[in-house]
Amino acid sequence: MRLVLLGPPGAGKGTQTERLVARYNIVPLSTGDMLRAAVAAENAIGKKVKDTISRGDLVPDEMVVSLIAQAIDAPEAKNGFILDGFPRTVKQAEALDRLLKDRGLKLDAVIELKVDEAALLARIEKRVAEHKAKGHAVRSDDDPSVLRQRIANYRKETAPLSDYYQQTGALLPIDGMQPMDKVEAEIEKALQKRVAA
Ligand code: ADP
Repeated sequence: MRLVLLGPPGAGKGTQTERLVARYNIVPLSTGDMLRAAVAAENAIGKKVKDTISRGDLVPDEMVVSLIAQAIDAPEAKNGFILDGFPRTVKQAEALDRLLKDRGLKLDAVIELKVDEAALLARIEKRVAEHKAKGHAVRSDDDPSVLRQRIANYRKETAPLSDYYQQTGALLPIDGMQPMDKVEAEIEKALQKRVAA
């Protein structure tokens, strides 16, 4: 199974990714996690992207495309993958298409979690409070003003991917405002239908 999960910050991509990974025995590929790991490791990529990420802006397309290409070629991804946070621009989506085509692979579906923008800020604030309560580290970009920038970037750069994948026929829109289990069940139903078709 090869999937893309689309949705703004706070849409619940992390939760649904975990569940899909367990169900289909596929690997989660999150460019956000890869970039945060690079920043923590203070390697060359990390040094380049640290400030961009903390402003809530997007890092250059070439950089994430090459990270994803490497991850897709890794043996762990043989059984499939779920891309979370990639592609994030039409350019990245086109690069992904080429990359998959070169390898004779195809996306099974692009799941779009549709959420009400007004709810996002509240959701992330809740997530931050929960992390703090558990004594976990809080992402430096989970701050209200940076979050607004991330949502604005999503609207401008990433939301157009919905049309892009509508045209390729891969899009599966899901109402992300429902409880997590309901969202999971709907994704499952839509995927079953897709696989059967
Ligand atoms: P979010 O919770 O906002 O969806 P992510 O964890 O996916 O956040 O990404 C965090 C940050 O990493 C982004 O705000 C951006 O700076 C950078 N980033 C992640 N993925 C990409 C990408 N595909 N293209 C460009 N920048 C990215």
